[in-house]
Amino acid sequence: MTRILLLGGTTEASALARTLAEADADAVFSYAGRTAKPVSQPLPTRVGGFGGAEGLAAYLGDEGITHVVDATHPFAAQMSTNAVQACTTAGVALCGYERPPWQAGAGDEWLHATSIDAAVDALPDSPARVFLAIGKQNLSQFAVKPQHHYLLRLVDQPDAPLPLPQTMVEIARGPFDVAGDTSLMQRHAITHVVAKNAGGTGAHAKLTAARNLNLPVIMIGRPELSAKAGQRPVLGSVEEVMAWLSHRSD
Ligand code: NAP
Repeated sequence: MTRILLLGGTTEASALARTLAEADADAVFSYAGRTAKPVSQPLPTRVGGFGGAEGLAAYLGDEGITHVVDATHPFAAQMSTNAVQACTTAGVALCGYERPPWQAGAGDEWLHATSIDAAVDALPDSPARVFLAIGKQNLSQFAVKPQHHYLLRLVDQPDAPLPLPQTMVEIARGPFDVAGDTSLMQRHAITHVVAKNAGGTGAHAKLTAARNLNLPVIMIGRPELSAKAGQRPVLGSVEEVMAWLSHRSD
């Protein structure tokens, strides 16, 4: 019997959930619980952390999970590392479902940053107007450059004071389009864009808008998983995941 745990929080996870539901698969969808109103899923859904790798290993055993699909965001490195450890402990099959990173094309002016702190360093010292398109985590690292105006795009209204003195907050949930992102950046007279290299289509529009407006993008590279975590198969489409599930269930 196949019973699947789908670690979600991305557009890809939601697409896979639809396909699993259509296939009548026995699957549970898991959210970290970062947003107040997560997108509802056509699968039984649980919300909240498992309690580290040990907690996840116990959950896998208690729930009779046979396969885990890690479709978390490419920057959710802790969850991915925990999934590798827990699946090894529990003897459960694991794959990653990940979109490829974005690549700069002709006309793009990207500065590559290897970490959030490197992105902070890459911002100028003179006051700028920055579209800080990195979600709500890691904002406090930009507090060392309070001279900038920061445009934040968040899913929920912040429930605590923001760690940056000059902010403009746009509440919106993707996918976004080029016309909308161009107009947003023009309205706020943006001079710099900071982005995480998430990949995928839902958040790509800001990069095309930046290119059209000749704005530099500080692109933060993906965190490296531990060498062990790197050993899981990483698949790139719903079809590949479905094939992996059926192959691993034979
Ligand atoms: P993270 O740093 O890798 O995870 C921190 C902890 O959150 C994990 O150790 C785990 O807690 C819990 N967690 C994460 N994903 C979970 C899931 N799908 N189900 C249950 N628990 C989960 O991850 P993060 O960067 O905070 O991201 C949290 C979620 O937001 C992820 O599901 C991710 O797909 C989504 N997201 C992240 C980003 C980003 O830029 N990081 C952007 C968009 C969406 P325990 O150790 O207690 O199990």
